[in-house]
Amino acid sequence: MFERRKTKQVMLGKVPIGGGAPITVQTMAKTDTRDVAATVAQIRELERNGCDIVRLAVPDREAALALKKIKEETSIPLVADIHFDYRLAILALESGVDGLRINPGNIGGEEKVRSLTRAAKERNVPIRIGVNMGSLEKGILSRYGRTTAGLVESALSHVALLEREGYDNIVISVKATSVPVTIAAYRMLAERVAYPLHLGVTEAGGPWAGTIKSSIGIGTLLAEGIGDTIRVSLTASPLEEVRVGLQILKALGLRGGGIELISCPTCGRCQIDLGSVARAVEQRLPATDEELRVAIMGCAVNGPGEAREADVGIAGGKGCGVLFKKGKMIGKVPEDKLVGVLLEEIKKILEERKQK
Ligand code: SF4
Repeated sequence: MFERRKTKQVMLGKVPIGGGAPITVQTMAKTDTRDVAATVAQIRELERNGCDIVRLAVPDREAALALKKIKEETSIPLVADIHFDYRLAILALESGVDGLRINPGNIGGEEKVRSLTRAAKERNVPIRIGVNMGSLEKGILSRYGRTTAGLVESALSHVALLEREGYDNIVISVKATSVPVTIAAYRMLAERVAYPLHLGVTEAGGPWAGTIKSSIGIGTLLAEGIGDTIRVSLTASPLEEVRVGLQILKALGLRGGGIELISCPTCGRCQIDLGSVARAVEQRLPATDEELRVAIMGCAVNGPGEAREADVGIAGGKGCGVLFKKGKMIGKVPEDKLVGVLLEEIKKILEERKQK
């Protein structure tokens, strides 16, 4: 539906970024990377729930060395997030990570950036140049201030540094906490380079405000064809970030599959606690790539129409819901059984499809 911006393609392990590849969803683990068991468990849970790429904080040598074990026990691409010490980037590469994220402005000088770039080049590992408004380097600040242009120029100067090493395995991000600034920066950057872009609104806040900010910032850019991989940044679990990221892609028709939940806003006609039913079902929906439509509707006005169109749905009545499956009404269910019955029917449909 949207014409995607043409970019170079880079490979993060087996996952392509840019060059027309499907847009990927990534997050950052919130465990201590040195705690291998907890980090592996979190990565596996994220993968089961549709996450494509996980980034890990590497604050010290112990964390860089732990990456080797984590890599051995997981299967999706892992990106090492490095600040301040280029030697950690080199150790992370030796541990087998699939990508690096650095802000070259805080690595401690050009020679150190060159050194880690050479190590990444030898292993054909991509580097994301991740520039944030909050950590622009002094030279850029004195010339441009904390502005959109400053953000973009900072990224471009780092790109030029890597290119001078004959390295072009690059992904770029230019994040700000302001949605308009983020949008403007990515638009500007997209005009200037053909590298794939990692989108995100940084430090977007808690799940409520952060979801809105991320959806508007990331969604606006994606609708313009800009962006190749996304990370929703929330003060919440990484699972929540992935759920929001996947939903942004689904809402724009950029990712198919999975369960689409339709529920009405309710009004004075609704005679069941529809909000509780919809929330409980949403929280317990199984992770699947199968396309399935579930409708949870409050009454007979729009309920039967939407529920009939869905694979499974209910139209609320007085203390109950009329259950529809594949276009047919199959019975009345008391309100307290609605969640269980809907989830059971979803499970049955998924099992039936597996057997086909
Ligand atoms: Fe109101 Fe019924 Fe429409 Fe829901 S489906 S918003 S309860 S009229």
